[in-house]
Amino acid sequence: MSMQQYIEEAEKALLHTYNRYQVVLDRGDGVYLYDIDGKRYLDFCAGIAVFALGYNNKKYNDALKAQIDKLIHTSNYYYNVPAIEAAGKLKKVSGMDRVFFTNSGAEAVEGAIKAARKYAYLKDGATDHEIIAMEHSFHGRTMGALSVTGNPKYREAFEPGIGNIRFAEMNDFDSVMRQVTDKTCAILFETVQGEGGIYPAREEFLKRVRALCNERDILLILDEIQCGMGRSGFMYAWQKYGVKPDIMTTAKALGCGVPVGAFLMTEKVGTHSLVSGDHGSTYGGNPLAGAAVNAVFDLYEENHVLENVNRVGAYLEETLDALAQKYEFIVERRGLGLMQGLVFDRPVGGVITKALDRGLILINAGANIIRFVPPLVISRENVDEMVEILESCL
Ligand SMILES: *Cc1c(COP(=O)(O)O)cnc(C)c1O
Repeated sequence: MSMQQYIEEAEKALLHTYNRYQVVLDRGDGVYLYDIDGKRYLDFCAGIAVFALGYNNKKYNDALKAQIDKLIHTSNYYYNVPAIEAAGKLKKVSGMDRVFFTNSGAEAVEGAIKAARKYAYLKDGATDHEIIAMEHSFHGRTMGALSVTGNPKYREAFEPGIGNIRFAEMNDFDSVMRQVTDKTCAILFETVQGEGGIYPAREEFLKRVRALCNERDILLILDEIQCGMGRSGFMYAWQKYGVKPDIMTTAKALGCGVPVGAFLMTEKVGTHSLVSGDHGSTYGGNPLAGAAVNAVFDLYEENHVLENVNRVGAYLEETLDALAQKYEFIVERRGLGLMQGLVFDRPVGGVITKALDRGLILINAGANIIRFVPPLVISRENVDEMVEILESCL
């Protein structure tokens, strides 16, 4: 079948919830993807900040194949070695104490919300606790995660949500204070907002929210699903600020393509929230997912991924800053490490489509922002190659 025929088949069979780009991808190698006609694309999307290690990584593939031949799934009624090891590695890199594995980011957010509500419930037996989330945030598409997502367009048709959610402005501490009540059980935000337009939390904001949470025994939940796993230059972006959450979520690059997420908590929350019977998942943390997480952490170390993010991220920043200087229709560059946004004074959809045509995969974050979330193993040469194509499309 031709590419066009596949696309027509897709539009007959798949529910149309995405306006997909007109390309059928077939295979990947390093930082390049190939479509079914063999055309090559430099990938600055990485499956939306997922495939950090680059495609067709032999050690990663071999680790998965070995686990497939051994055991893919067993229920959470039993222990399995890959999940035990993966939890240990996750604890080590995050400094958190307790891990629950999920199958996606949204489910990690659901679990975080449940843990926070249970923590508050155990204190006063009440069932009307509130959560403060941020405008322009994105936490996923399930009902709980959607209810804390600060984009009314995503929520409206599906109201009512889970209720008792209040919204504040990211990086505006006074707006948070205006939403705090004696019912507040958690404050939730992305350490770097992704979908909402690549807005890093300011250090002062994070520190003041942390202090507020300490003072009132409110739980700080940081969503690191997109900005985590090294993308910011730190394994988790909050580590840059010396502020630790009570609960955090992680997913996307955690399994580098095998669907796995997690929510993690401190011992304090771990021993005063969810207990047996409160939460579960058939697949969550199965041996295949565990093997993927283990391989990812091992390869991060072996390939010095964080060092690469810091080195190439700085270069990407410089390069994008130069573009913002050069073109009057580019307003600014925002971001951390290899999670960057270039803000235009106009919609960027045309540029992204043109870039795809010229062999460069980019995505947006809001109508006016090009988002750069490449595999974390990209080189400076890849950045140069990207900019050359991008400039030809402006
Ligand atoms: C992608 C994302 C989610 C949702 O993850 P899914 O795996 O798509 O459910 C939640 N929070 C943030 C910050 C994300 O970027």
